[in-house]
Amino acid sequence: MDRPSHAAPLPGEPDAIAVPPAVLDLLGTLWAAGHDAFVVGGSVRDALLGRPAADWDLATSARPEQIVEAFPGSVYENRFGTVAVRRDDDVFEITTFRSDHDYADFRRPHRVEFGDDIEPDLARRDFTVNAIAWGRTGDRGAAKADGSGKPAIVDPFDGRADLATRTLRAVGDPIRRFDEDALRMLRAVRLATVLDFTIEPATLEAIAARAELARHLSGERVAAEMARLLAAPAPSTGLRLMETSGLLRELLPELAAERGVAQNKVPGDDLWDHTLRSVDAAAADRPIVRWAALLHDIGKPATAADGHFYGHDAVGAEMAEAILGRLRLPRAVIDRVVQLIRQHMFMYDSGWSDAAVRRFIGKVGLPALDELLDLRAADNVGSGRPADAGGLGELRRRIDEQLAAEVALDRADLQVDGGDLITELGLSPGPLIGRLLDDLLERVIADPALNDRPTLLLLAQGALEEDR
Ligand code: ATP
Ligand code: MG
Repeated sequence: MDRPSHAAPLPGEPDAIAVPPAVLDLLGTLWAAGHDAFVVGGSVRDALLGRPAADWDLATSARPEQIVEAFPGSVYENRFGTVAVRRDDDVFEITTFRSDHDYADFRRPHRVEFGDDIEPDLARRDFTVNAIAWGRTGDRGAAKADGSGKPAIVDPFDGRADLATRTLRAVGDPIRRFDEDALRMLRAVRLATVLDFTIEPATLEAIAARAELARHLSGERVAAEMARLLAAPAPSTGLRLMETSGLLRELLPELAAERGVAQNKVPGDDLWDHTLRSVDAAAADRPIVRWAALLHDIGKPATAADGHFYGHDAVGAEMAEAILGRLRLPRAVIDRVVQLIRQHMFMYDSGWSDAAVRRFIGKVGLPALDELLDLRAADNVGSGRPADAGGLGELRRRIDEQLAAEVALDRADLQVDGGDLITELGLSPGPLIGRLLDDLLERVIADPALNDRPTLLLLAQGALEEDR
């Protein structure tokens, strides 16, 4: 078969990329069976950038049944022609060349058509830098004889030129491509942020022109992109792009409302600027804190009155719950982020007794404690202050001290439990037991020395007598 070749290597560069042995092995099997096969997409892009590639995706002329036949034990995953192949501990996705048709709802193609060539498969991809392939045609007499036995780069949209200038450019007419799939707009923002690329002007203008389509996207797809955006070194880059392009207004209108809300923190900054600084200041490997930093002041626009924002923490917590629910984040993540926002206004001062520090630990709970302190540190930086301003450094030290002393922080840490109270004091099970334990815990938090069994039983006895 005759096909155009775009496999010209870059001048002075070998037309090869560092493909892991397992992937080469998969390609080799497909080639030997007579199928064209290439690595494509993000992994090729990342390899050419010298970044570690996350997942190696393969594209082939082999039909799903043929892929399964070539790799015994593999699984046909979905109607898009993707087969999952396990090699060592990794799972690789091998997808039959395809072209997309009938985008009816700005989301996903309704019909996919399998193809015999890599080029149309690259043409359906979103950005030029994601539309580069590396591989070759399958082993079959003539093709092999004409030199196609050597794998090469296939780059019909000049993605390598855009890689060199770190540019994100839609494949084809950006307006049409975003009409086909609105997620691509958010992918553009996310990829630009993660890769530290610039979105090419026509592509960026098309996002602004089509931002409204983003409201058709499912919460899950938006959340997946947002999560990756929030894991970037500086999410503010992408969040600003979302704001200026109008994507934010469609996806997170509550956040878009922060624009223009006055703040007396960093001169010239509004509430949105403060939020962005705070998000960047939170650690990239703490997704919960990043989400909380993004949403921590979301209650402010609604509560703004006379330069104050009374109750914005409680209002913001409720709003965050609704937003994250809309994005279908896991319940445990939602609960934690909401808790952090609700508690983010805690006021520490050096006058706190050690018992107050222990009460604080008990109220926040150990699992959320570090995250709450990190959120406050990010909020501090977002306000133009040092991370440990407001006594935060001191509070951290005092908390560490208390934790090192292994003081009791909840009922489970008490040297007596409900069963002890029932047998030793002749009580019957009921709410009274819980009340007694809470009372004992309060006393032990105030004075850890009281946490031994005889003392606690005496204290419980005393409390009972007082009650009578
Ligand atoms: P990452 O490194 O974040 O995984 P990626 O570009 O590999 O980035 P994937 O979601 O893994 O992103 O997609 C793999 C490839 O599939 C992309 O590189 C692109 O070629 C193509 N692709 C993914 N999503 C779309 C889309 N919505 N429209 C068109 N092509 C897409
Ligand atoms: Mg990928």
